[in-house]
Amino acid sequence: MINTNRTALVVEDEPEIADLVKFHLEREGVDVTITRSGRRALELARKSIPDLLVLDLMLPDLDGLEVCRRLKENDETKKIPVVMLTARGSEADIVAGIEMGADDYVTKPFSPRVLMARLQNAMRKHGIPGVEQHDGVLVRCGGKLTIDKERHVVICNGETISLTITEFEMLFMLAKRPGFVRTRDQIISTVHGPLTVLSQRTIDVHITAIRRKMQDLGDSIETVRGVGYRFSDGEKE
Ligand code: CA
Repeated sequence: MINTNRTALVVEDEPEIADLVKFHLEREGVDVTITRSGRRALELARKSIPDLLVLDLMLPDLDGLEVCRRLKENDETKKIPVVMLTARGSEADIVAGIEMGADDYVTKPFSPRVLMARLQNAMRKHGIPGVEQHDGVLVRCGGKLTIDKERHVVICNGETISLTITEFEMLFMLAKRPGFVRTRDQIISTVHGPLTVLSQRTIDVHITAIRRKMQDLGDSIETVRGVGYRFSDGEKE
C-alpha cells in the first residue's frame, strides 16, 4: 500500500502550511521537498521530475499560475500532476489554474484528509501508482468523500463517519459505479450475506440512514423511482 519512493514537490511560502502538507504526505511514505520560490520550483521540477506538485498560487516571486503555465509548456514537466492551493474565494484563479492544466485545487483552510484524497486522486489520474493504490479506495464528490474498503472507513468532508457493515457495503456498491442504477434486487444479491438479511423495504431504511450520516453529501445517492438507487457525484468517471 505504501510506496516509499514517490516524490512530491511542495511550493508554498507559508511554513506552517508547507509543513502540514509535508507531514501528511510523508505519513503515506512520500518523499517531500519544500520550496517557497516559484523559480526554484521550476528548477527543481526540471532537474528531477516529482510524482506530484502541490502549488500555492500566491508566492513571493513567480506566482503559482505562471509556474503551472511554464511546467505545462515543457514536454518533460507537463506530465507532473499539479494540485493548487488557493485562498478561499479566488474562483478566477481556480478557473485559470485548471485551464492551464492543473489537475485539481484545494482551498485554504483545508482538511488534511480532503487534501490527501485530492492529491491521491491527481496522481491516480496520471497513472502514477500513488499512495493507497489498491482498488478498494474510492474518492468521490470532488475529494469530499473517501471510501476505503480494506480499512472499512468512510471519510465525509474530512470527518470519519460510522456506518454499519450493511450500510458500508451498500454505499461502496453504489459509489463504485457512479451513474449506474442499481435495482433493489441487485443490492440485495450483492450485499446479502450470512449475517445480513435484506428485504426491499429494509434497503430503503438503510439508504435513508446512509444519507443522513453523509449529511450534505447524502444527496449523491439518488432515488430512481420504481427502479432503485444511483450514485451521482456530478463528475464523469
Ligand atoms: Ca502564499
